[in-house]
Amino acid sequence: MSEASRAIAPGTLVVLCRTDGKPLGVGYFNPHTLIAFRMLARDHRCTVDATFLESRLRHALRLRQAFYDAPFYRLVHAEGDDLPGLVIDRFDAVAVVQINTAGMDRLTADILEALDRVIAPHAIVVRQDSPVRAAEALERNVTVVKGCVDGPVLIRDGELQFWADLIGGQKTGWYFDQQENRRIVAPLARGGEMLDLFCHSGGFAISAAHAGATGVLGIDSSEPALAIARRSAEASSVASECDFRRGDAFKELENFAAAGPRFRLVVVDPPAFAKSRKDVPKALAGYRKLARSAATVVEPGGYLFIASCSHNVDSAAFSAEVARGISRAGRSGRIVRQAGAGPDHPIHLHLPETAYLKSQIVHIL
Ligand code: SAH
Repeated sequence: MSEASRAIAPGTLVVLCRTDGKPLGVGYFNPHTLIAFRMLARDHRCTVDATFLESRLRHALRLRQAFYDAPFYRLVHAEGDDLPGLVIDRFDAVAVVQINTAGMDRLTADILEALDRVIAPHAIVVRQDSPVRAAEALERNVTVVKGCVDGPVLIRDGELQFWADLIGGQKTGWYFDQQENRRIVAPLARGGEMLDLFCHSGGFAISAAHAGATGVLGIDSSEPALAIARRSAEASSVASECDFRRGDAFKELENFAAAGPRFRLVVVDPPAFAKSRKDVPKALAGYRKLARSAATVVEPGGYLFIASCSHNVDSAAFSAEVARGISRAGRSGRIVRQAGAGPDHPIHLHLPETAYLKSQIVHIL
């Protein structure tokens, strides 16, 4: 990188040119990050301002409206919506804006203006607390920049109701990426027991209880997430079928495995194990181990749902480890569904990493 490039302030809007001078597009630049340039528009004459962002947000909104009846979804999925570094989750009239790069940080005022024009939220929470901001040398904080958010907000999903803590909860407060998978997986527990490992605020567990599981047990290491899960079970009228317990999912699973098969459905939805490429071998071993122990506790004819949200683990590698784990448990089965996130997490055509979520439903024999 040239001296002149190094002197450009992080997050500055620049036009990227080929060595022969032909412009490739406009985007933002940060000389200190591994990905130095992120493209915003191929037309280098584009002015990146509130009007430009408004048009991007309108595109994003139209896509969601094509798939969702209710206003609860990820409205902007970074590169997947041609807005690298920006995530916006919509909880009806409340929006949570996550700004993860210096380039987007500089555009904050324009983003908020555009969001007001497109969905006019009553309240906006700006979450600048993601660990990735450290790499961009950005400060970390959470602010309510519009309206008032004085406690968890309610997500309505048919007859189900979930609380989400948009200010103190993990990420944006809710994992919209598993919404579709929850709907498909939940009925598999009907008439049997269900175990939800890494349950966070109980999305899978409560859906399964509502779909007719006789009992569900959710385990997570975060007490605040579990407290929300218990409130959501009440709100969804399934509190008597639900038990949420604090614990280490690996240890709890080992204990259950020692006692043998017991659950009709086991859901394993851990946090990202591979934060960088060097973590990949350890992450793969982790998925294998989880698949092995989880398969052990599934009753014959039951189901295992297992997911990986590690950007650096591709779906073939994940699949291979899940298969190995199940074999090592002395069990067999067949994959009945492989899926990523829902349509509110679009995948960029040329950036396969934007398809970070991988999951499988395995019918265990
Ligand atoms: N299944 C959830 C999302 C899971 S996110 C949903 O549908 O909403 C991953 C969760 O794993 C987080 O809630 C985090 O608190 C929890 N976690 C991380 N390490 C853990 C561990 N060792 N044992 C149990 N839970 C853990």
